[in-house]
Amino acid sequence: VINMRMDKLLSNMGFGSRKEVKILLKSGGVKVNGNVIKDAKQHVDPIVDYIDVHGEKVEYREFIYLMMNKPKGLLSATEDSHYETVIDILEIEDQVFNPFPVGRLDKDTEGLLLITNDGQLSHQLLSPKKHVPKKYFAVIDQEVSAEDVKAFAEGVILDDGYQTKPGELIILSSGSESEIELTITEGKFHQVKRMFEAVGKKVVYLKRISMGTLHLDETLELGEYRELTDEELEQLK
Ligand code: URA
Repeated sequence: VINMRMDKLLSNMGFGSRKEVKILLKSGGVKVNGNVIKDAKQHVDPIVDYIDVHGEKVEYREFIYLMMNKPKGLLSATEDSHYETVIDILEIEDQVFNPFPVGRLDKDTEGLLLITNDGQLSHQLLSPKKHVPKKYFAVIDQEVSAEDVKAFAEGVILDDGYQTKPGELIILSSGSESEIELTITEGKFHQVKRMFEAVGKKVVYLKRISMGTLHLDETLELGEYRELTDEELEQLK
């Protein structure tokens, strides 16, 4: 059973700040099981009780799951005193769920970012024990060779001495700049960039394209986001 204060519930569901919701209640705009409720402190169960605001049913839900095509320049954090974060650009109706990004993409990295308030799912996806594969597209500053493919398949030694788990490197094109895809099952700090540094090369562009079963929706422009479909969510869990 859920037992929530009327003002908290309505505020969480996007009907305004606590103060605004109090005014809404006072005005008689809210009914619980058909009866006008004016008391902000009244507790309700949003699953069992039928709540409506000006006749419109309040659909309660606890979790939100968003897929963002992260642009360069945003921090993968909830708040920051200097830079704009991926949460800052969400609509207020989505921010009321207190969502956070699942894992981090560097400030200059683009692509798939899952944003949710589901701590359990986040933990599942990030737990080192689960080896959830993450696939990246990258542009490299020089030729990428079959030797690099082999080195990544065996694991490379990063600048701090850590040996990575095998990564699958696919060369899409090789030349004075190369395009590659790399799938890794870990999430060390700056891992993709540091793996290329380990073979003397530099990542000049990086974009995440998938995380587990979840693939970036290429119709999302940079900075756009949408809710996961039921199917995407089911597969991910
Ligand atoms: N690896 C990196 O180097 N940066 C990212 O943002 C993600 C993976």
